Amino acid sequence: MSIIKSKIRTIPDYPKPGILFRDITSLLLDPEGLSLSIGMFVNRYQNQGITKVAGIEARGFIFGAALAFQLGVGFVPIRKKGKLPGETISQEYILEYGTDHIEIHKDAVHPGDKFLILDDLIATGGTLAAAIQLIQKLNGKVHEAGVIVDLPDLGGSAKIKKDLGVEVYSICQFEGH
Ligand code: AMP
Repeated sequence: MSIIKSKIRTIPDYPKPGILFRDITSLLLDPEGLSLSIGMFVNRYQNQGITKVAGIEARGFIFGAALAFQLGVGFVPIRKKGKLPGETISQEYILEYGTDHIEIHKDAVHPGDKFLILDDLIATGGTLAAAIQLIQKLNGKVHEAGVIVDLPDLGGSAKIKKDLGVEVYSICQFEGH
């Protein structure tokens, strides 16, 4: 969506040389941009029988919590290793150098739950794939994953569809890395 896309600023060479960082804080700061983006998710996911929204730390919390509120369902945080106080399960995922883990509370997923997972951006798809696997391991159904930005040239959304059978919906796309 071009209005939303135009409100996302690009910061070159952050966090390191060669990366074009797609910064959604400029979208959050803009009242029209914020409301349009949450509104697009609400329109797409209302009346779909979603029972919970999960958001990936940290920027997925912002959009995920707002959407859960609008849909009238609960919100589940998916967090970096060691941050959740209750009993968790963990999923490893690959970073550029090495690996990391994300976690979810075991009691956050109930049989028959239909989840929507939100994050700000999908690049290689490693983080989102790990989040989907966490919910699937606990026997939750993942209806779809939603992001503000896809970087389709990195192939993450296509890989998730192929490997995990989950569609990734993106509001806008940026070419390149
Ligand atoms: P990935 O696991 O490769 O799909 O990376 C996704 C995560 O890294 C998201 O949570 C993004 O917030 C962050 N990320 C990766 N690449 C970028 C980028 N070019 N601009 C902004 N955030 C990024």
